Amino acid sequence: MSVRPEIPRKNLTELGLADLQALFAEWGEPKFRAKQVYQWVFQKGARSIDGMTNLPKALRQRLSDEGYSVGRVRVGRVAESIDSTRKLAIKLDDGAAVETVLIPMGDGKFSQCLSSQVGCALDCQFCYTGTLGLSRHLTPGEIVDQVLVARDHLPEGARVTHLVYMGMGEPLHNFDGVIGSLERICDPEGLGYSHRKVTVSTSGLVPQIEKLGQTVPVNLALSLNASNDEVRDRIMPVNKRWPIATLMKALRAYPLPPRRKMTVEYVLLGGVNDSDADARRLAELVRGMPVRINLIPWNPFQGPGFDRPADDRVQSFHQILDRQGLTVTVRVTKGLDIDAACGQLGERPTAA
Ligand code: SAH
Ligand code: SF4
Repeated sequence: MSVRPEIPRKNLTELGLADLQALFAEWGEPKFRAKQVYQWVFQKGARSIDGMTNLPKALRQRLSDEGYSVGRVRVGRVAESIDSTRKLAIKLDDGAAVETVLIPMGDGKFSQCLSSQVGCALDCQFCYTGTLGLSRHLTPGEIVDQVLVARDHLPEGARVTHLVYMGMGEPLHNFDGVIGSLERICDPEGLGYSHRKVTVSTSGLVPQIEKLGQTVPVNLALSLNASNDEVRDRIMPVNKRWPIATLMKALRAYPLPPRRKMTVEYVLLGGVNDSDADARRLAELVRGMPVRINLIPWNPFQGPGFDRPADDRVQSFHQILDRQGLTVTVRVTKGLDIDAACGQLGERPTAA
C-alpha cells in the first residue's frame, strides 16, 4: 500500500482557497463564494453544506448533488488525565487511527499536539510511535481537522492558542501534507493562527528543514537527543544520513525571524545521554545560536529497555546548561497516566 493517501477531491476539508476558486469559476459562480465556503469550513468549522447559510440554496444544492461534503475526522475515545490533559483518538475514513492531545497551559489556554502520520518510519529507539512503523501520511484536511474537532472537547470558554506538530509521525517526512495544513491553519481567512504560535518538530530531515524555512516561517523544534554521533546513530537511525554537524549547519542557516528562538528538544535517557559531559557537549553544539533547550525526561513504555533519568541527573544537566547562559526548560510531564505524554502516542494492542 502506498504511504501517500489519495486526496478525496470532493471533501471540502481537502480543498484550498485556490481549488474552490477554480471550481466556482468553472461553475460560473462569483469569486467571493469561494472565500465564503472556505471560511465556513476552516474558520467556522461547519459540519455540513446545509449549515452554510449565506450561500444561495441553489449553490448548496449543486454542491451536494455533485457529491461534495464536509468530511470531518471522527473523535473516538477521549481520555482525561488527572492533570486535565486530554487525549483524543481520531478515527480516519479508512479505519486508521491517530491521536491528538490537548495540553492545559493555564488561564483557559491550551496547546494542541497534532499528528501528521499514521505511525512513523524513523524508528527512533526511545519512541513508542516509532515501534509502529509507518502506515501512511495524513492528508492536509486530516491534520487541520484535528484542530476543528477538538474544539468540542475543550472546557467551556477555553481555547487552543498554540499548535505543535509533535504528535504521531515525522511532520517533515509528510512535507506536502503538513504544508497544506499550515496554509489553512495560518491563513487569516482559515483558522487564523499566527506563525508565531505554530511549531513544527523534526527528528532532523535536513533538506526538508531547508525547504520549510523557504516556505513558511513557523517555529522549528529539533529533536537532538544526543550530544555525539555515536549515541545519536544508535538511538536515532536518521542520524546516519544527516549527522549532527550537517544538522547544526542547517539549523544555523534556518531563516528564523528576529527575536525568535528555535527549540532544541533533548530526551534524557538514564545512563545513555544524560551525563555532565553530554551537557557540556550540548552547550558547545548550540553555542551562539538563538535556542531554547527543552529537556524531556524519558516517558517510559515497555520494550526498549531505557530508564527515566534520576532527578538529580536532570538537575545537574540543567544546571550545566544554565551556567553557560542557555535558556533551558524541563518539560513537565503531562498526561503520563493516559499514555498521552511525548513519544507515547499510538494505539496499544488491547488485552484480550
Ligand atoms: N517526529 C517529530 C515529532 C514527534 S515526536 C520529532 O521527532 O521531533 C515529539 C517529541 O517527543 C520529540 O522531541 C521526541 O524526541 C520526543 N519523544 C519521543 N519519544 C519519547 C519518549 N518516550 N519520552 C519522551 N520524549 C519522547
Ligand atoms: Fe518518529 Fe519523532 Fe518518534 Fe522519531 S521521535 S520515531 S521521528 S515520531
